[in-house]
This record gives sequence, structure tokens and C-alpha cells, in this order.
Amino acid sequence: MPAGVPEFADVVVVGGGSCGSVLAARLSEDPHRSVVLVESGPGHRLPAELPQELRDAGVLPVGPDSRWVWPYAVELAHGRPGWIARGRILGGSGAVNGGYFVRAAVDDFDTWPASWSYEQVLPYYRAIETDSDFAGPWHGSTGPIPVRREPRSDWHPISAAFVDAARAAGHAEDPDKNAPGAHGVGPVPLNIRDGVRVGPATAYLLPHLGRPNLTVRADTTVTRIVFEGNRVTGIEVVNGERAHTIRASTVVVTAGAIATPHLLMLSGIGDAGHLSELGIPVVADLPLVGAQFTDHPEVVLSYRYRRPVDRTARTRRTPALQVTLDDDGIEMRPYTAAFGDLIPGSGIGKPCLGVVLTRPRSRGEIRLVSADPRDAPRVSYRYLEASEDRVMMREAVSHAADLLHARPLNGLIDPEPITLSNDWLRARLGTSLHLSGSCRIGVGADDSVVDERCRVHGIDGLFVVDTSIFPAVPSRGPHATAIMVAERAGCFL
Ligand SMILES: Cc1cc2nc3c(=O)[nH]c(=O)nc-3n(C[C@H](O)[C@H](O)[C@H](O)COP(=O)(O)OP(=O)(O)OC[C@H]3O[C@@H](n4cnc5c(N)ncnc54)[C@H](O)[C@@H]3O)c2cc1C
Repeated sequence: MPAGVPEFADVVVVGGGSCGSVLAARLSEDPHRSVVLVESGPGHRLPAELPQELRDAGVLPVGPDSRWVWPYAVELAHGRPGWIARGRILGGSGAVNGGYFVRAAVDDFDTWPASWSYEQVLPYYRAIETDSDFAGPWHGSTGPIPVRREPRSDWHPISAAFVDAARAAGHAEDPDKNAPGAHGVGPVPLNIRDGVRVGPATAYLLPHLGRPNLTVRADTTVTRIVFEGNRVTGIEVVNGERAHTIRASTVVVTAGAIATPHLLMLSGIGDAGHLSELGIPVVADLPLVGAQFTDHPEVVLSYRYRRPVDRTARTRRTPALQVTLDDDGIEMRPYTAAFGDLIPGSGIGKPCLGVVLTRPRSRGEIRLVSADPRDAPRVSYRYLEASEDRVMMREAVSHAADLLHARPLNGLIDPEPITLSNDWLRARLGTSLHLSGSCRIGVGADDSVVDERCRVHGIDGLFVVDTSIFPAVPSRGPHATAIMVAERAGCFL
């Protein structure tokens, strides 16, 4: 495109992550619709061109030196700083994540508008997957994402011992976490094939890059959405030193649960008082932009192995998680490697069991620190602020410690002592990186940012379709639900 000439598309998709990859692929199925997908990170055209560091699903390439992430300094709890990362590459966070690909629970949809009930979304969950372990009415057999669970013969010794300890403690066996009502301990569904993540870019987008009506602009960052009155007219982008405009009658924001509210606020959509303080002209006063997000707080219980673990060739290369225990609002994750190995450069050394609140009550907030798009927003998780969360986390940690000290785990590992004081919990507090709900879906502008069709209230032509629209974080990992949402939105957009 010559300098100074605005580019035009029928639809611009902002962010080529998990949801953006699916949407760009689905929307460009209509050859009469031109689609431009703008991704801030690097792109690739073939799965084989994926950088080697991103191929091994047993490693999460999101450490401090990673070239594939947006890093954010955050506040996990009052006075407790933290550091998080989101994917910044074609495929987004889905290209760097743990490969744990599980659906939300049926009752997670109780907080969604009625048109997003479990019955309504089930066909889309089925459409995205090919499940190689289970068939029948709950599972898909023709979708682009392969789903499988690791057989016990491939489990790391810690996975096997954890399942046995949890079963001995009375937890139900849970062979199929994607079945309605599933709970207990068992293998997690994974979107990993031959040790490589099969994320949305690989499964949905790359096969269609040859479409003449689909353009991917990688290494290009959207800095502002542009409006005439209350109608969207395009976006402003920067690529290196070069800034230009892409005009479009429809803009779909899929920049993820931090960057989406950040971009909306920079563009004048958000809490009018907050925007005015920073001198940003208000286009739509939507106080819930960036407000009341949820994510899964995670406390890690460290241990050391009593002796080197006996690993066969089949159990040597494992995903980060092979099994989990899900019960009563708690998830326990026996990671198969120390975080220092899972996230190179993270410096978090020891092997550990993650203990997670899956239905947290505490709500976080994302706020601008300035009107300059280069300044990252302030992300305050406010974890464990609700007293119910603190009570529940204490009980969960206490039960997890009992499991670690029980047979057969106690023959394998020597857990570090726990104290359950507030300080002890805060010191071991982390996040599951499942941030959701920062631009929630709903009915009216006072309780949501987008309506049931993902349209931003009060603005023509502007949609949000990513994890920010979830009313709350699902009680499991959000990735499968993100792709389901994009599949469904692709049908009605
Ligand atoms: C390290 C890690 C591990 C995880 N593990 C799991 C797991 O095992 N299971 C699970 O269920 N979930 C997991 N998650 C969460 C899950 O991957 C995300 O919830 C999901 O991928 C989010 O999808 P999204 O489309 O909302 O955003 P993303 O996939 O993050 O996509 C957003 C995209 O927008 C781009 N972008 C942002 N701003 C701009 C801009 N201004 N201009 C242009 N492009 C922009 C970004 O570069 C990115 O590519 C993990 C997340 C992380 C970070």
C-alpha cells in the first residue's frame, strides 16, 4: 500500500490470537467480503515455519526474555506485585499456552445471556474439535482442533501418584472432563499432537492464507479505533515507524482480555470519568470496560523428589499437565516439571502442585495509566480480596497438603511445610493466566460492554469477540471456550 493511501476492508479483525485466527478464517469464507487481520506480533505462513521455540508444547515460551509475548507488570493482590505475559504472535496466547483444552462446565453458562446456554453453545464446542478418545453427543469428530488425553502408560510418575492419592482420598474418577457434570481426578484433554500445540492459527487460519480476500498484516499494532459519530470507520495502526489508517465498516476487536479493554479505552470507549481524567474524548460511556475481570488465583505447593524419578522414553517428554483434580470450585494441578523448566528464564525453580480457585469471587480492574498506546495499562487482580476466596483457598491448600503427604505421593516426594497464614499464601500466590471478563457480554450498557451478538453498546459496526466478553472466567481453562465463542460469532457476524 503506497504511503498516505488508506487501506480498505469490509471487516478488520484486531489481533490474530486464539479468537482472531478463528474469526478471520470464518469471515473470509465469503469470497465477497474482504477481511484484514492485524496482528502486533510476527506471522508465519506454514506450521513448519513456526519458530522452533514455540513447537515444543512441553515448554511455555513466556519467560522474561521471550520475543513472543506482551509482558505486563501487575498487582496480584494489594501490595503483592507480579509479572504476567500474553502471546504476541499469530495464534496469540493459544500459540504459547499449556495445551490444556477443556470446556467450561455446564453451570458456568448460568452467568451468560440466555442465548448462550450450554445447549446453545454445545454444537460449537463440538464443531471445533476432533476428539480421538470419546464419541457421542458431547464430542466432535470433524473439527480442526485435535483433542486427546494421555494414556496412563505415558504419565509422568507424579501424574500417576497424584491420581492414586486423590482416588484413595475419595475423589471420583474423571475420565472425560468434557462431559457435562464431569468432576474428580483424571486426564486433561489436550490440543497437542506429536508434542506440538495445534492452536487456532495452525488449525484455522494458515490453511486459508491463500484466499484473495484475506490479508494478514503481521508486526502491525493497532493504536486506535476511529469513529464518525457513533459509527466505526476504521483503525489506526503502526508498523515500525510507519503509521497509517485502515478503513472498514466493521471492526472486530479480538486483542485479548487485557489489550481489548486497553484499546477500547484509548479509543474513547469506557468509563467516562476515567477517560476524561486522561483527556480522552468519550465516544461511549461504558463503565464496565476493564472492570470486574476474573482469573484463577493459584497457590503453589513446592516439594522435592526423594530420589531421581524413573522416567521411560514415553514419559520423558510430557506436557505441563497430564491430569487434574476438579472438585467443588477447586482445581489441583500436579505439574510434570518445575516452573523453571516449563517457563525458561522464569527463575521459579521447584516442582510443585498448583492449587486453584476455579470460581473466584474477587474481581480485578484494568485502567489506563496514560493516553499513550505505548504505555501498558495498570492491571490489578485483587486476588483473595473476597473473604470467601481466602477461606476456600486455605481449605484447598490444606487438603492439597494432605494429598502430598499421603500414599503413594509421599514415597516419591518430600513436600515443603505449609503455614496457611495470609503472608504465606500471598508469597506463593500466582495466576493461571486465564484473565476473562474485562468487557463482559450482557443485555444493557449498565451491566455489560457488548450485547448478545458481541456488538459494543451504542456503537455501530464495532464488535468484541475474545475472552474479555466472558461474564466470568470459566471454572476450567478458557481456551476451548474462547474458540467456541469465535466459531459462534463467526456465524452471526
Ligand atoms: C502462558 C499461558 C498459558 C496458558 N495456558 C492455558 C491452558 O493450558 N489452557 C487454557 O485453557 N488456557 C490457557 N491459557 C489462556 C488461553 O490461552 C487464553 O485465554 C486464550 O488464548 C485467549 O484468547 P484471546 O483470543 O482472547 O487472546 P489472545 O490469544 O491473547 O490473542 C490476542 C492477540 O491480539 C494481539 N494484539 C493485542 N493487542 C493488539 C494490538 N493493539 N494490535 C494488534 N494486535 C494486538 C496479540 O498479539 C495476540 O496475538 C494460557 C495463557 C497463557 C498466556
